[in-house]
Amino acid sequence: MITKPKGTYDVIESDALKLQKINRVIEYYCEFYNYDFIRTPIFESRDLFHRTVGEETDIVSKETYDFKDRSDRDLTLRPEGTAGVVRSFIENKMYGSNMPRKLFYNGTMYRYERPGNGRNREFTQFGVEILGSNDPIVDAEVISMPYRLFEELGFKDLNVKLNNLGSKEDRENYKTALKEYLNPHLEELCEDCKRRFNTNPLRILDCKVDNDSEVLKNVPSILDYQSEESQKRFKKVLEYLNYLDIDYEVDDKIVRGLDYYDYTVFEIVSSAEVLGGASTIAAGGRYNNLVEKLGGPSTPCIGFASGLERIMLAMDEFETTKKRPLNCYIMYINEEEKIKALTLAQDLRLSGVAVDYDTTGRSLKSQFKEADRMHAELLVILNSEDLKKGLITVKDNMTKEEVKIDENEIIDYIISNG
Ligand code: ATP
Ligand code: MG
Repeated sequence: MITKPKGTYDVIESDALKLQKINRVIEYYCEFYNYDFIRTPIFESRDLFHRTVGEETDIVSKETYDFKDRSDRDLTLRPEGTAGVVRSFIENKMYGSNMPRKLFYNGTMYRYERPGNGRNREFTQFGVEILGSNDPIVDAEVISMPYRLFEELGFKDLNVKLNNLGSKEDRENYKTALKEYLNPHLEELCEDCKRRFNTNPLRILDCKVDNDSEVLKNVPSILDYQSEESQKRFKKVLEYLNYLDIDYEVDDKIVRGLDYYDYTVFEIVSSAEVLGGASTIAAGGRYNNLVEKLGGPSTPCIGFASGLERIMLAMDEFETTKKRPLNCYIMYINEEEKIKALTLAQDLRLSGVAVDYDTTGRSLKSQFKEADRMHAELLVILNSEDLKKGLITVKDNMTKEEVKIDENEIIDYIISNG
């Protein structure tokens, strides 16, 4: 028997219902917050991720699916969404007029990670990017939109953790101070952090191994190394979040793993118990230099990404998603009634009614059972004798009341009663 690859999963049964619900809410929120949908390729040139996400990040150094195609091109399955969106923004010259561009995506990502609770090798992220505005109000909007969306899905007690990484210059000043502080303690850090000390010292703050060590508890705070301009900017973001009534906490240890972030970075954390250690359900930040780095015009940007699998897991805790009941189930016995079922189902479906009927030759009795199983609200019972008189029987499956309706009025009747 052939089985699914490690770290992948099939979306079936209750997971399928949860995923559909999440996707509907995403579509709805993105429309009302005025984001345009964008889809970019699942594989891109290998260079794209190495130049954006960064060589020294876990994602690129350990987790990418790199491969060569039959013409020897170096390609990578996308491990995240921002790089592709920014590449597309530049390649399609979306800059210029109509700024800012507000884009959202929703698709599969690939990382060669150790699979576990809320961690897969193929997983789904939805995210937004706002390209072309540096107004702190945009930071507040990009944080509050997923926050409200998660609430709609049933999340409670959400908390936003945010930090200010400042400009490149602010970060350089901080890195110097951080290295000075860490230098005498290097032996107490994990092997990865020893390497990061030289390649990407900020990432040490984010280390899952050294997290609780005394050394890291007492590191200098990046917030003390911000220019006045950067401090003012961050204050504004917090002020706007206050107005929006978003529950947040400034956390100077949040740095995010990726190379391209500056100024505001944030994580939205859920207290849902099923998530255990993987409680970050969305994360993002500002990346004012990435477009330029990839060859486009200087464009300040901010975005977030959220993992759908973690949302699905958490939803188990506060809700069982039920399949939407069918408006109508049509029943028949002979071929003449069957043809009527076929055409009536089409007419009803085109009028926006959810309809189904039997296709396995069930007896009338088991068609009733089937209708119950699908939680059908109305039963349309076709009968040749009635059809000759132009009548159709409709039964309310709750009250069990039956009426005979004129064939020409059946659609209107079902729409107003189903
Ligand atoms: P973590 O610290 O949990 O590894 P990350 O920093 O790698 O997360 P991002 O790259 O910022 O996460 O991705 C944003 C979101 O995407 C995460 O908060 C999570 O919800 C989801 N995500 C990331 N990696 C995975 C994965 N391997 N499987 C499922 N969801 C994931
Ligand atoms: Mg990760």
